[in-house]
Amino acid sequence: MSFADLGLSDELLRAIADSGYTEPTPIQTGVIPSVLMGKDLVGIAQTGTGKTAAFVLPMIDILHQGRSRARMPRSMILEPTRELAMQVAENFEKYGKYHPLSMALLIGGVQMGDQVKALEKGVDVLIATPGRLMDLFGRGKILLTGCELLVIDEADRMLDMGFIPDIEEICSKLPKSRQTLLFSATMPPPIQKLAAKFLNDPRRIEVARPATANINIEQRLVEVSADKKKDALRDILRHEEFKNAIVFSNRKTTVRELATSLKRSGFAVGQIQGDMEQVQRIAEFDRFKSGEITILVASDVAARGLDVKGVSHVINYDVPWQPDDYIHRIGRTGRAGMSGIAITLATRADAEAVAGIEKLIGHKIPRQGAAKAVEREEEPKVAKAPKPEKAEPVAKAARPARAPAAEPAPKAEKPKRAEKKPEPAERLPVVEDMADEWNGPVPSFLSFGAD
Ligand code: ADP
Ligand code: MG
Repeated sequence: MSFADLGLSDELLRAIADSGYTEPTPIQTGVIPSVLMGKDLVGIAQTGTGKTAAFVLPMIDILHQGRSRARMPRSMILEPTRELAMQVAENFEKYGKYHPLSMALLIGGVQMGDQVKALEKGVDVLIATPGRLMDLFGRGKILLTGCELLVIDEADRMLDMGFIPDIEEICSKLPKSRQTLLFSATMPPPIQKLAAKFLNDPRRIEVARPATANINIEQRLVEVSADKKKDALRDILRHEEFKNAIVFSNRKTTVRELATSLKRSGFAVGQIQGDMEQVQRIAEFDRFKSGEITILVASDVAARGLDVKGVSHVINYDVPWQPDDYIHRIGRTGRAGMSGIAITLATRADAEAVAGIEKLIGHKIPRQGAAKAVEREEEPKVAKAPKPEKAEPVAKAARPARAPAAEPAPKAEKPKRAEKKPEPAERLPVVEDMADEWNGPVPSFLSFGAD
């Protein structure tokens, strides 16, 4: 299958060739013709397998017909974080370079002036984080009645508790007859059920069972006592042959501490977490992308979607509380067919969280090194831990975050799934009805009144 077989325009094929892509990835093969046909769909494929181009490419050809009007964007892409929105905008520019399309990027933490000016001129595509979009909508700067195409990227995250009120409100302003596309590497069935509310006769196009980790990622788990975690991290960073690494931690304070302590040990390190000013966040991320720093200590604000070329290692300094976050964090490596290594530090107190992850991904994470005996763990129990930082801080009234992973909602009896080997990367996409194959926790708020 080649890009030319997918029904894309010649200008687009030229831009694709300029990007150096020789053939579409399986999710692109599966999704692009359906999008061009105007279908609603849910697209599921592992991290780093080209989901962005799967929607951006056909969107460009669709938008090429028609004209934008002042304050009435013709299409919209929603992203959970500012950096991810910026990255998708870069993709739009790259693939749309032979198409005269206009775009506005609406993200929080930066001045609104230019965003408003762009909107007033009229844009073909709006790429936004929900907070800023709602803000501008509230000020009467945007009319969504002409928005015929909606993409919700990282859809399960966008439809969970933190964002759902905004998404519901945004969707209520859009025309009913619009086309809606949802994408993610993870998709718990209850969220997919909820998603059905926003879709019209959707197709589900999936390349792999949701939440399978990308097979290009070698996963390892290092058992360590709580008071030795920093030493273990330094050890890994000294002895692993890494090109660059993202070190994830569950708390913003730990991100700050680790960045300081690693810097003191002589590492070229930066940080990214939700308490930083946006300009600083962007500057640090740019330093990492350019190779000026080789280690980025990050909160989960960097867990989803970010595509930095050739990240060789992801290190979980803390085991994530949500099993699906594990999939997304480690998915920052092993992208676009490259290989990567993901190392997770786990203490005894993390046993439950590790079990949750292993249940979700369907296999045990190979242990590296022997477990050290510990008399007492200093860490708080997972259930009592403060809430993990999630994506963008929401400016409005405080909203409940997702339930911590320690207490997954009880699930209905399910037939036990046979041991599955990781899917081969080249598997063709399947188009089918929803299969109830989620092993992760079900967000508790979905257990009542979700349908
Ligand atoms: P996902 O959203 O599935 O996690 P991305 O859309 O961020 O993945 O793409 C991951 C990487 O793959 C990007 O660097 C992108 O440039 C590259 N890529 C996308 N499509 C192709 C293709 N057809 N051939 C080669 N590389 C591709
Ligand atoms: Mg993506």
